[in-house]
Amino acid sequence: MSSAPAQHDAPTDTTPDGTDEANAFTELGLRAELLGALAALGYEEPTPIQREAIPPLLDGRDLLGQAATGTGKTAAFALPLLHRMVAHRDGGDPVALVLVPTRELAVQVSEAFHRYGKDLGARVLPIYGGQPIGRQLRALDSGVDVVVATPGRALDHIARGTLRLGGLATVVLDEADEMLDMGFAEDIEAILEHAPAQRQTVLFSATMPSRIDGMARQHLREPVRIEIGREQTVAGEAPRVRQSAYIVTRAHKPAALGRVLDVESPTAAIVFCRSREEVDRLTETMNGRGYRSEALHGGMSQEQRDRVMGRLRAGTADLLVATDVAARGLDVEQLTHVVNYDVPSAPESYVHRIGRVGRAGREGVAITLAEPREHRMLKTIERVTGQRITIDKIPTVADMRTRRLELTQAALRESLLEDDLDPFRVIVETLTDEFDLMEVALAAVKLAHEVTSPGSDDEEEIPQVPVRGPREGRPEAGGRGGDRRGGGRPRPGGNTVQVFVGLGRRAGVRPQDLVGAITGETGIRGRDIGSIEIADRFSLVEVPQGVADEVISGLRSSTIKGRKATVRRDRGGEGR
Ligand code: AMP
Repeated sequence: MSSAPAQHDAPTDTTPDGTDEANAFTELGLRAELLGALAALGYEEPTPIQREAIPPLLDGRDLLGQAATGTGKTAAFALPLLHRMVAHRDGGDPVALVLVPTRELAVQVSEAFHRYGKDLGARVLPIYGGQPIGRQLRALDSGVDVVVATPGRALDHIARGTLRLGGLATVVLDEADEMLDMGFAEDIEAILEHAPAQRQTVLFSATMPSRIDGMARQHLREPVRIEIGREQTVAGEAPRVRQSAYIVTRAHKPAALGRVLDVESPTAAIVFCRSREEVDRLTETMNGRGYRSEALHGGMSQEQRDRVMGRLRAGTADLLVATDVAARGLDVEQLTHVVNYDVPSAPESYVHRIGRVGRAGREGVAITLAEPREHRMLKTIERVTGQRITIDKIPTVADMRTRRLELTQAALRESLLEDDLDPFRVIVETLTDEFDLMEVALAAVKLAHEVTSPGSDDEEEIPQVPVRGPREGRPEAGGRGGDRRGGGRPRPGGNTVQVFVGLGRRAGVRPQDLVGAITGETGIRGRDIGSIEIADRFSLVEVPQGVADEVISGLRSSTIKGRKATVRRDRGGEGR
């Protein structure tokens, strides 16, 4: 960030009733309806990017932001857009258009708008390829405030006259680098030509290659510039603790957290969540899984917080699940582990969190659970702190079994050393009349194992998500130039298949048409599509084996350059 937020080390200020309801969002000048929505979601304070972006966006300024997923960038543009929507909306035409690279993101972003804009009655519509156009037409016809669209489908609607941009107050280009990589540059240009000249333009991008810079120079007027993780942390500021991360999908996070805790066996751990709501939910989940967990967040009175801290210090709780605000200034000697249940929204916040352990020469461990899309944020944190975060594999079911056996062995060893076994000698002696001594021992170990290390209920494997370096293999210049798209190849080592599409150069098909059709119709991202070869009458697209069927059915149900195409797995040139 251009200005690092203050690092508080004292406990949070509280109101007379002991809670810190003076939510820091209030100071940003947002409408009461939005503040209400944020409080209901349990957001306690703006993330650094929100703190910097919201005031100038409320003033109508253009903005160029370098920020990846996980920084809170969606709310950073959604909140001011919704605030300004109230003044600008009249009639049924949209006042804001958000362009995003994929269907997945269109849905996510419009859900975020829904959540924040509920009390303002915001009408939000995601539009992307693959969804029946009829539904979109009806929704557009009945009036929409905010449209969140992939460029291809937005352009379709503009051409049909069903998406009218004359009333736009703001256009947002979200994940702009991703959109360029997918060959959407011309579509974006065409869309912006239809938007009023007197508009606010906001561009967010995880990276700032020169093409993005060029785009910003052309379309943004004196933009405010914001960059996450620009400042280097002063050397030595980040504590020396063992730092690792696991890449895991949201759905598998509770199970992954349980496994990691089982393997690490912390004396006491603090698990950081982003919101109060998540703190409460996770505390309940972890208690249900047999971990003695306590919640700590800004909605609790000082008395409640003191009770929680007491239980942690006394060892009657093992896990403290907390928000950043509530955990500020905490110094608990017993803490051995910090877990980031989500990647923190800025490197400063990461440094502050892991500072809860490893104090005064104590050994500490910091573990981060990151969703696949948040991998880039981990890299930013590594760069800023100058310390490495090792990506570890989530323990498998077999690892957990081995670990439990080790625990049983350790317990038995301890029991052998304690030497108070005499009362049981008679049992062994009696049983050895009938059984071999080894068998008796095995049965005893089995019983002990069942008691000391019972198996957990979630014996399902947690999928290992492949880790990919940022922009690995992706072309800097996008895919417009040639017929063969060199970058964005599927993971090295992953199995891929070629998909045959019965339309080629003669039908005017370009690589970006195929990428657009695939990403618009399926949940697959542009970077997962491999090489694209365009011949006169057909095209071949390389995709990961696991998604080939989805790609084929997606392409079959859509049109490419307005035409239906034969689509099937390539059979290696036969019949062409
Ligand atoms: P994004 O970087 O926009 O993908 O947001 C990442 C996640 O952070 C989303 O799940 C948001 O709901 C959440 N989030 C965004 N801002 C805040 C905030 N100020 N407090 C708590 N959670 C937030």
